Amino acid sequence: MYLSSKEGNLSYEITLANSDYIWIWDEFEGSPGDLPGNDIANWGNSLGPYHNRTELVSKLNSLETNFPGLVDISDIGTSYQGNNISLVIITNETSEKFKKEFFLVAHHHARESITIENALYFIDKIVYDFTNGDEEIQEMLNERTIYVVPSLNIDSLDILHLWPEMRKNYHPIDEDGDGIEDENEIITGVDFDDPDETIAEDKPGGVDLNRNYAYQWDYPFGNSDNVTHDTYRGEEPFSEPETLALANFVRQHYFQAAVSLHSGVELIITPWSYDSSYSCPDEEIYDDLGNELALLTGFTHEYLYPCAGEWGDWIYSARGIVSVTLETFHGDDWTYLWDGFNPHANGVISNCQNIVYPGLLYMATYDCPDLAINPSENISSIISEPEPTGKTGFNVIFVIPSFLSFIIIILLVRKRKK
Ligand SMILES: [Zn+2]
Repeated sequence: MYLSSKEGNLSYEITLANSDYIWIWDEFEGSPGDLPGNDIANWGNSLGPYHNRTELVSKLNSLETNFPGLVDISDIGTSYQGNNISLVIITNETSEKFKKEFFLVAHHHARESITIENALYFIDKIVYDFTNGDEEIQEMLNERTIYVVPSLNIDSLDILHLWPEMRKNYHPIDEDGDGIEDENEIITGVDFDDPDETIAEDKPGGVDLNRNYAYQWDYPFGNSDNVTHDTYRGEEPFSEPETLALANFVRQHYFQAAVSLHSGVELIITPWSYDSSYSCPDEEIYDDLGNELALLTGFTHEYLYPCAGEWGDWIYSARGIVSVTLETFHGDDWTYLWDGFNPHANGVISNCQNIVYPGLLYMATYDCPDLAINPSENISSIISEPEPTGKTGFNVIFVIPSFLSFIIIILLVRKRKK
C-alpha cells in the first residue's frame, strides 16, 4: 500500500508493506457469546479470542512489520518474571514537527483482560484510519506521538486461565507465612512435600500494581499492608518492576494527558483517588474533562472508593500530567468473577468501538491547560522539551559526545593555565 498526502505545507509519504496484518475486529469476527460458566477456564491458556501473552507480542510485531514509519514497538522494561513490558509508539515518523504526546496504559489488574483489547482496538483503529486517509487521524499523528502499554501486568497472562480471579502481579509471596513463597499448587499441582498439609494457600502473586505508586502509598486506608489482601501495596513505593518501569518511562516524557484502563465498573475517575474528602487543585479542569468523557462514553464521572498509592494520583501530583482512569466494563452476571470484569467474546468489539474508543480519541487529542498543581517531580529545568520524533538516539548520538567534548576542552584549557 502506498500513501501520499498533503496537510498544510507539510507533505509526507509512507510506503506500507503488503499488509497481511489482521485487524482486531477481524480477529473477533464470529467469536462466541455465552459459554457455560467461566469462559476463560474453558478456553485454557489460549484465553480464547482474548489475547494471551504470545498472541499479544506477535500482534505487536506484526503491526511494526506492516506499518513501518508509523508504528514502532519497544518496551518500558521487564516484569517480575522477566517478560518485556511492550510499548507501542504510533506517529507519522516522516513528520518532523515538534510533537505533543499522549500515554495510554492498560491492564494493571490481571483479570481485567478487556482493557488489553480496548487498547489494541484503539491502536488498530488509528492505524487503520491513518492508512485509509482519515484526515482527523492523519492530522493527529502528524502532530502527536501516541504511546501505549497494552499490558502492564504481562506475567499474569500466562496463568490467568488457571486463576481467573487473579488481580495482582505475578510476584511470588509467602502469604501464609510458612516460609515457602507462593506455594502455587494452583499453578504447579499439589505439592505433597508442602509441610503445612493444606493446598493452594498462597495465591499466585503478588502486589496490587495500582496501589504501589509513590503518592500517598502508606495512607491509612485505600490499600493494605497485608500480603494476603487483594489491595496489598508491596514493601515500598515502586517495589515492583512493572510500576517502576512505568514511572521511569513517564519521567522521560511530557504527556498532554494520560489514561489508565480498568474494568469491573463503568466510570471515569480523576484525582484525588486516595481520599474523597480532599479536592485536587485542578478540580474544575477535571470536572470539565469528566463531563466531556461522560458524553462520549456514557460513563459517569465520580468517586469509586479510596485508592491510595494508585497510578492517577501519582502521575498528576509528581509530573503535573492530567490523568484519567477509565473503568470500561461492568458485567451483569457475577456468578463467575471473570464475567463481571470482561464481556463475552462477542461483546468485546462493541465495547471497544462504541464506548471506549470515543473517549480515548478525545484524550489522545487533548491539550493540557495550565494546571494549578505544583508537580513534585517537575524536571522541566532539566529537559527543556521532548525529543523530536524519529530521533530517539539524538541524546546519545549528539548531546552526550558534545558534552564530553566540552568537558575535555575545559580540562585542557585549565591544564594549560596551570
Ligand atoms: Zn482494576
